[in-house]
Amino acid sequence: MAAMHPSPRTGRRRLVIGLLAAGAILPLALGWLLVGPARPWPDEIAGASALLGFAALLWSFVLSGRFRAVTDVVGMDRTMRWHQVTGIAVSLLLMLVHPFLYTLPDGPAFMRPDDLTHAHVLGLGGASIATGLLAWLLLGLLTTGAIGRDQIPFRYETWRAVHGLLAISVVLLGLHHGLSAGRYSASPVLAGLWLALGAMASSTLLWVWLIRPIGLARRPWRIAAIRPVALRTWELVVAPVGHAGLRFQAGQFAWLKLDRGPFSRREHPFSIASAPSEAGCLRFLIKEAGDFTRGIGALPPGARAFVDGPHGNLVVEKRAEPGLAFLCGGVGVAPALAILREEVRQPTPRPMLLVYGNRVATQLIAQEELERLSAAGRLKVVHVLGEPAPGWAGESGQLDAALIARHCEAAARAGWLFVLCGPPPMLREARKALQRLGVRPAQILEERFTYA
Ligand SMILES: Cc1cc2nc3c(=O)[nH]c(=O)nc-3n(C[C@H](O)[C@H](O)[C@H](O)COP(=O)(O)OP(=O)(O)OC[C@H]3O[C@@H](n4cnc5c(N)ncnc54)[C@H](O)[C@@H]3O)c2cc1C
Repeated sequence: MAAMHPSPRTGRRRLVIGLLAAGAILPLALGWLLVGPARPWPDEIAGASALLGFAALLWSFVLSGRFRAVTDVVGMDRTMRWHQVTGIAVSLLLMLVHPFLYTLPDGPAFMRPDDLTHAHVLGLGGASIATGLLAWLLLGLLTTGAIGRDQIPFRYETWRAVHGLLAISVVLLGLHHGLSAGRYSASPVLAGLWLALGAMASSTLLWVWLIRPIGLARRPWRIAAIRPVALRTWELVVAPVGHAGLRFQAGQFAWLKLDRGPFSRREHPFSIASAPSEAGCLRFLIKEAGDFTRGIGALPPGARAFVDGPHGNLVVEKRAEPGLAFLCGGVGVAPALAILREEVRQPTPRPMLLVYGNRVATQLIAQEELERLSAAGRLKVVHVLGEPAPGWAGESGQLDAALIARHCEAAARAGWLFVLCGPPPMLREARKALQRLGVRPAQILEERFTYA
């Protein structure tokens, strides 16, 4: 059997994971190296949890900043998931372990002038108690607000702004607390490292809130057209103003700010549905979901737009598989359309299969185009409706294991690449069904339309 070598992307992903993990461990390692453990073990665990947790909190800003050096390698949804998991792990360490394991008496450092490194007494004074307590409370608010985001009756943008402000407050308060009370952080090297990491975390916010919008302002777009294309679904076309447009790969997505300025916090991610070779304008398919998307049809043509992208790894370019199979639900067909629109423009397009699930027939997007491609023998389309009208000739039901096995077995056997996009339960079911057909995880690409 041939040895399995990690792909270059897996290698780069491991490098990013390694660097982030090393960055989180660095303060603790330096603390032990430069100052050294000297207290009873519960106190050392309490101190170590603070060093580890606070460093991870500072690095998690890098995960939330949508930096392409990270997201292109790791994937946007995985980056967001790491950000969420790190946040929860950090909170558990900082909130449940750090304050409760100390056995040493506390008191301000001046009580024991001979104990400069707080080996025998915790260096807690009035101010460091106050900042520690406040950071602890705000961290609780930050974490519960993130876990229960969908239950909070705020707009997503309001939630995001509050989340950022709470996070930076925890950092500033935590820095004060650590530098004034921490035994290890009394070392000038470690204090310098904390200030550098704090500056890094604050600069990611500066980048996201100021520098990136300045970049967007220099490459404006305008809304060229908005038209209904299916039930509660719109096609939005944006045109570049004074520049050549966006270079992207089919299957990628962008964050859009529509009919507002580049500094607006109101931005939403949408997959690009046009092919990269349709140079210039970008097309998006937008389904009404909440307050922003419900107003999409009322946006005035000609209004300004800003496009932050491209992002995402749902990319089939450079993949050597002999065919492409798309399993899509609803508006999840958008990136698949971009990929198949690009593929049919290639000198030797690969065979393609689209298994496309919707609730009712009026939700079908790009029906005529799909029929044309299908009649030309470029694509096989399998429509699946959850609630078909009488007389419906296609498949009915869900994209479940049996249906996927029926339509994808040959593609699985032939080693095709599978591209999945749709609601999370559909994605889970499809992935399981494909794995049962023997499709390797490396042959499945997937985009979730949510970071929840
Ligand atoms: C990578 C990606 C690609 C997407 N592509 C498409 C597409 O091609 N067509 C399409 O119709 N939809 C797409 N979506 C989903 C789309 O972004 C949301 O439906 C839209 O942002 C909802 O906004 P709302 O205010 O109308 O609804 P809300 O009710 O405010 O939000 C519904 C849910 O959408 C998510 N959401 C809202 N705002 C944001 C935001 N600014 N950033 C991230 N998530 C947000 C949240 O999970 C929220 O719970 C995509 C999402 C992602 C993550």
